[in-house]
Formats: sequence, structure tokens, C-alpha cells
Amino acid sequence: MIDSTDGTVSFPVKVWLNPVIDRKSDGTVVVGSGDVWVRVPPDTTRETMGQWVTWKPAAKPLRNDIKKVKGSKGSVYTLRKMPDGRVICSCPGHKWRGKCKHQAMF
Ligand SMILES: [Zn+2]
Repeated sequence: MIDSTDGTVSFPVKVWLNPVIDRKSDGTVVVGSGDVWVRVPPDTTRETMGQWVTWKPAAKPLRNDIKKVKGSKGSVYTLRKMPDGRVICSCPGHKWRGKCKHQAMF
């Protein structure tokens, strides 16, 4: 548990799951998720909890950012478009060289 008055911590702290605000029966208010929790001032709301915790969803390709292509020898490879625009291919050539002709087929 991190305390919001702890001067050694630089807020907001990063959490890896969508953070929630939790009001305990003793009046303590905590925000966070997973194994990262911050004890915050009691007047903290969902609108102001961003000053204590920040959440960035992991960069996962969306379902419609995946495309199957057929290679020249009949193998099927998976192309994934990453959020930064790069296209990753599952073929051996892409694995070795970091690029391949399939990328253009996305
Ligand atoms: Zn490829």
C-alpha cells in the first residue's frame, strides 16, 4: 500500500489493470488495481483519482488488426498490425530479418 502523503513516491503511479476506487468501512479510501494501491484523501473521486494512479492498457492488437496470408509454399502466416503501425508477420523470414514480403499484403 502506497500512501498519498509519501513524498518519495512520484504520482501518479502506474497500474496494469483498470483502477478502481474503494471506500473502506473505516473511512479509508484507496485507489488502484492488482497489487498497486494508493491510500488517498477521503474526498478523492473517480474524476480526481487520476492524480494518484494512471492506467495504460497493454498494447494488444485488436482482432481486426490480424490478417492471415498464404505464403508461396502454401503455409499460412499471421500478420498483426501493432498500435504503432508496424506489421509483424509469423513467417520464418520475418523472424530472422525483421521484415518480409507478406507485410505489404496487410
Ligand atoms: Zn512474412
